[in-house]
Amino acid sequence: MALMVQKFGGTSVGTVERIQLVAGKVAKARAGGDKLVIVVSAMSGETNRLTALAMQIQPQPNVREMDVLLSTGEQVTIALLCMALKEEGVEAVSYTGSQVKILTDDAHTKARIERIDDDKMRSDLDRGKVVVVAGFQGVNATGDITTLGRGGSDTTAVALAAALKADECQIYTDVDGVYTTDPRVVADARRLEKITFEEMLEMASLGSKVLQIRAVEFAGKYCVPLRVLSTFKEGPGTLITLDEENSSMEQPTVSGIAFSRDEAKISVLGVPDAPGVASKVLSPIGEANIEIDVIVQNVAADKSNDITFTVSRSDVDKAKSILQDVAAELGAREVVTDNKIVKVSIVGVGMRSHAGVASTMFRALASEGINIQMITTSEIKISVIIDEKYLELSVRTLHSAFGLE
Ligand code: ASP
Ligand code: MG
Repeated sequence: MALMVQKFGGTSVGTVERIQLVAGKVAKARAGGDKLVIVVSAMSGETNRLTALAMQIQPQPNVREMDVLLSTGEQVTIALLCMALKEEGVEAVSYTGSQVKILTDDAHTKARIERIDDDKMRSDLDRGKVVVVAGFQGVNATGDITTLGRGGSDTTAVALAAALKADECQIYTDVDGVYTTDPRVVADARRLEKITFEEMLEMASLGSKVLQIRAVEFAGKYCVPLRVLSTFKEGPGTLITLDEENSSMEQPTVSGIAFSRDEAKISVLGVPDAPGVASKVLSPIGEANIEIDVIVQNVAADKSNDITFTVSRSDVDKAKSILQDVAAELGAREVVTDNKIVKVSIVGVGMRSHAGVASTMFRALASEGINIQMITTSEIKISVIIDEKYLELSVRTLHSAFGLE
């Protein structure tokens, strides 16, 4: 008899019919003998609707009241799901985050979980009940309701699974797993049976949005086996686990191709080639809370420097205006920006033990006449910045170059 935490996202509980469908699935799993803790999100669109209401009154809503407001979305779903479960003949009990004592810090709207009191859940489980917990919310030490940030129900599920030492944390969603790349771009993208936490983080942060990044980090830290699977389609989904040693012989070199369209490039041309210049250019960007991704610096024949880096598209204008002053101070020739770029990455823990991965990648791109503008690497990833018009072509080319279909 296993202990499972199952999380159902907003689209899985978006209507009464879907809530009934989820209740049916839960009833079936319960009949199989598993102990079950169910975490649900708000019905799809609900958190956005509540946010819009608040903004009509306060453009910058008071964060304490915002949490009181947003937490109602999940409270609706836990009650409805328990009712549906009772109709299925399953004994179930619903709890808000504060009732199960998901204790968080005080950071309203982006709180972090500090401790979970699992006594109540354990005694319900021992009595054969299914425990239904509201995702995305907790309570701080003073008893105020907090929320965990958008997409936070995934984190609730992983945290409960860690606290209860569950056998698996299953995230039910509207896709049936994690794919080698986006199936909308490559028709023969394949569902992965397994992927490591590290790879999943790279895939997620690079734009294959299936799971909240924080939830994956949390699961990795506490070694909670995570599975992504579909609410609407039977199947094993994708298991996200630790990198098992000795498996590298069979491991494919590259597990997936990730990409991001939200990229823009800024170049500061003709700055002096001297100590401290990179810091003068990049520090004010960091101070303005703009995240910098890929950085390239190259020295021209006349001993002047060009510094180029990428930021998210929404930050590029702000970054450019900050740099105008710095550029004037450094006597730079020009600050130029380019919005029409994308980042494409190959990801795989298997890269650690294989040489020649980069050359395979660059050769494949060259064979299609795709120019690489910038390159960055880590142990398990190689990313290139290219013209946005080559996004689909490059992803398809790399997908087949690494035999992922
Ligand atoms: N309802 C919250 C949101 O929409 C939390 C979640 O769905 O995970 O962000
Ligand atoms: Mg969600």
